[in-house]
Amino acid sequence: MNPKVLLIYTGGTIGMAQNPKTGSLYPFDFNQLLDTLPSLRKLNVDIGAYSFDEIIDSSDMNPHYWLNIAQVIESHYQDYDGFVVLHGTDTMSYTASALSFMFGNLSKPILLTGSQLPIGVLRSDGKDNLINSIEIAAHKENGRSLVPEVCICFENSLYRGNRTTKLNAENFNAFYSGNHPPLAEVGIHVKYNRHAILPLPTEQQLKVYSQLDDRVGILKIHPGLSQPLVENILQTKHLQGLVLETYGSGNAPSAQWLKEALSYATRQGMIILNVTQCKAGGVEMGKYAASLELLEAGVTSGLDMTTESAICKMMVLLGTYPSDKEQVKTLLQTPLCGEMTIMNNE
Ligand code: ASP
Repeated sequence: MNPKVLLIYTGGTIGMAQNPKTGSLYPFDFNQLLDTLPSLRKLNVDIGAYSFDEIIDSSDMNPHYWLNIAQVIESHYQDYDGFVVLHGTDTMSYTASALSFMFGNLSKPILLTGSQLPIGVLRSDGKDNLINSIEIAAHKENGRSLVPEVCICFENSLYRGNRTTKLNAENFNAFYSGNHPPLAEVGIHVKYNRHAILPLPTEQQLKVYSQLDDRVGILKIHPGLSQPLVENILQTKHLQGLVLETYGSGNAPSAQWLKEALSYATRQGMIILNVTQCKAGGVEMGKYAASLELLEAGVTSGLDMTTESAICKMMVLLGTYPSDKEQVKTLLQTPLCGEMTIMNNE
């Protein structure tokens, strides 16, 4: 029996085809996918297709849409061996991060992919990305999925989704994972990097964390950061959490007003999570005096999480534990699905 993969179409550049007569691009009909790309038939995979009614540029992605994607996967979970979500590249790392935190006990692959050029364009990267994704999503060993994770499959690499960031708006190699190696590389063979892949969960039952709190934000530190701007952001009505993008290993300017503003906000119950602006490495609070002050202001360390991962993790945890900020803070510093590295432990 062939493995079964469900393709879920949300939109993005990939979802365009070229009319052979006119040469123009149009969103292709997903139900005719196998006709559009006959090579998919050679994969020996039974492919199901689900298309959202609202096909979007991923700039319009939001927590409500994430929930819809999660619900589609949940309701088809028993019927398929793996899932491939076609998605625009702009916010793909956010969606992959959010889904990774929304699913507990995941034992099947959920791969996000897309392309830099529409699939209907001759030089498109979409066809390879799609075929690689389907093949990996269908792959099993001893009857079990090899990659029980939410991933991004792009330009011959399979990444843990919550470790990625979109780095390039021009090259086909659009994504970067600075703090975790690729889970697989696609060449003549698909080479799995088994040590980098999460183990299968010990519990069978898929869990979906469907409450997300979007009362969060991101503040990037920069030279010349002004006091009124910071104070206005911190005083935003109902703001529950803020991801603070700091320099290097977690450093911020030493201005007393900044420390006081952050300190006041954390005392009022706001969670402030420190992540680095660097694309690799992480926060080590207390290494420099400039970050010790943040620690004293009640700021929580995001270790080596990406900004995308940090904001999505905050939304899911604040939604799941709305009245237990201490639990949220503890879990923010705990790896839940491979999104952060605890030093000396890995
Ligand atoms: N703006 C598009 C999107 O993210 C870009 C892409 O698909 O690559 O939906």
